[in-house]
Amino acid sequence: MNKKFWFGLLAGLFALFLVACGSSKTTEESKEATTTEEVVSGATEREYTDPSELKDSYDVVVVGSGGAGMAAAISAKDAGADVAIFEKMPVIGGNTSKSSGGMNASETKFQKEQSIEDSNDLFYEETLKGGKGTNNPELLRYMVDHSADAIDWLDSMGIRLNKITFSGGFSVARIHRPEDGSAVGGYLVNGLYYNLKEREVPIFVNADVTDLTDKDGSVTGVKVKIGGKEKTIKAKSVVLATGGFGSNMKMITKFKPELEGYVTTNHEGATGDGIALAEAEDADTVQMDQIQIHPTVYQETSYLVSEAVRGEGAILVNSEGKRFYNEMETRDNVSAAINALPERSAYVVFDQALRERATAIEQYDKLGMVVKGETVAELAKAIGVPEENLVATMEAWNKYASEKNDTEFGRTTGMEHDLTKAPYYAIKIAPGIHHTMGGLKINTKTEVLKKDGSVIPGLYAAGEVTGGVHGSNRIGGNAVADIIIFGRQAGTQSAEYSK
Ligand code: ADP
Repeated sequence: MNKKFWFGLLAGLFALFLVACGSSKTTEESKEATTTEEVVSGATEREYTDPSELKDSYDVVVVGSGGAGMAAAISAKDAGADVAIFEKMPVIGGNTSKSSGGMNASETKFQKEQSIEDSNDLFYEETLKGGKGTNNPELLRYMVDHSADAIDWLDSMGIRLNKITFSGGFSVARIHRPEDGSAVGGYLVNGLYYNLKEREVPIFVNADVTDLTDKDGSVTGVKVKIGGKEKTIKAKSVVLATGGFGSNMKMITKFKPELEGYVTTNHEGATGDGIALAEAEDADTVQMDQIQIHPTVYQETSYLVSEAVRGEGAILVNSEGKRFYNEMETRDNVSAAINALPERSAYVVFDQALRERATAIEQYDKLGMVVKGETVAELAKAIGVPEENLVATMEAWNKYASEKNDTEFGRTTGMEHDLTKAPYYAIKIAPGIHHTMGGLKINTKTEVLKKDGSVIPGLYAAGEVTGGVHGSNRIGGNAVADIIIFGRQAGTQSAEYSK
C-alpha cells in the first residue's frame, strides 16, 4: 500500500478523533496552543528523537520546526543529505501550527479543476500592491512562480489543499485550504511530521540553538542546549527556520514603539533568535519595522479569528451596529479602520450557514468567543448594539450580497452568500500583533546575505525569520506560501552545498 493510503488513513483517524472530541484544528491563538498540540500529539502519537541519538555532525542542521523548517528538512533529505531538526520548544510546529487560513498559489491544478482563472502575474501584482510596492521583487517572483509546484509537492506527500477561497486584497480565489475547511496549520504540521517520520529525519525538541559556529567566514555548525547540556554539532550547512519575533515585545517596541500594549497571536517561541544568531555572523536584515497587526483578534485570549471567516462572507460592525469599512481590504487598512473607531474594537458577524462552511468557528465557540442570537435583533441585544441598526445593516448587506454590489464600502469579494440563516453570531475583536514581515536578508537561493551583498557560506534561512517577500503588508495566505516554497528551496540548496 502506498504512502498516500497510509497518510489518508492516518488523517481519517485523526479527523474522527477530533470529531469525537468535539474539537477542530483551529489553533491560531496563543493560550491554547500547548493543549491543542497535546491533542494533536496524542492523535498521531507524535514521537520525538531521543537526545541520546544525537550525532556529532550532520550534513544539514535545520533550526526550527515550523512549516519552513519541516519543508526544508524533507527536501534536504530527499536531495540525499543527512539532516536533523533542532526545535527549542517541547513540541514542533511553531506559529505554523496556529495558522488557520491557507496557502496562496496561482495557476494550480486545483484552481483549474474548479474553473478559477488566475495567473502568476496577477498573484505577483496583487501581492506587490498589498505590500505597497516594497516587496523584494526577486523573492516575490520566485514565490509566485513556484507556488503551483509547491501545491503539487504537498499533494504528492498526502497534504491536499484543494478548498479555494478569497484573501483580503486579492481579486481571485487563491488561498488553498484543507478540503474539510479546517485550519491549515494543524493539518500541515501533521502532514509534514508524517513525512519526516517516514524519511527517518531526527527531530530533537527542547533543543535550543544558542550560537552558530564558523571557520574562515563559513558557517560550520551550531551550539545547542539539549538535555541540560550544551553541545557543539558540526554541519556542512545550517538552515535557520526559527520564525519571527512576534512574541518578543522588546524587539517589537524597539522597531515599532506604537505597538506597546498590543496583544500578540504568536506562540511563545517566536522570539527572533534566528535574527540574533545570523547577525552574529554579519548578516543583514531588511524591513524590521514592518510588523503586521491582524484586525480580528479576540483580545481576552489573543485568539485569532481567521480571515477566512470574512472570506466566507462575514461582516464587521461597530458598537453602533453599523458596518464601517470594506471587510476584505488588506489587514493594515482594516486594522486602521478598527483603531479609528472610538471603541477601537468591532464585531465579526455571521450566520449559521457560514458557521457550517467555516468549521474553524466550532473551536471559537468552544473557547467561549461566540455570542449567539436566534434572530438578528436578539444578537444585537446580546452584544449591546442598537437593534434597529443591526437589523438594517444586515438587510442592507444581504441586498449587496445578492446583487454583488456593495454600494456603501465597495466590497467585491466574499459575497457569494448572504447572511440569512438563523441563528446569528458575533465575535468581539480588535487588532493584535500577528506577523513580523522584516527579517534576515536572503536571495532566491535562500542564502543569507551580508550588508555588502555577499553570501555567508553555509548559512540559509527561510520563513518568517527572513524579510522582504511581503513588503510592508502581508496578504493572508502568503505566510504559508512563503514557508513552504522557501523552506523547500532552503532544503534543496543547503543539501546541494553540503555535497
Ligand atoms: P515559520 O512559519 O517560519 O516556519 P514557525 O514560527 O512556524 O516559523 O516555526 C519556527 C520554529 O522555530 C518554532 O517552533 C520555534 O520554537 C523554533 N525556534 C525558534 N528559535 C529557536 C532556537 N533558537 N532553537 C531551536 N528552535 C527555535
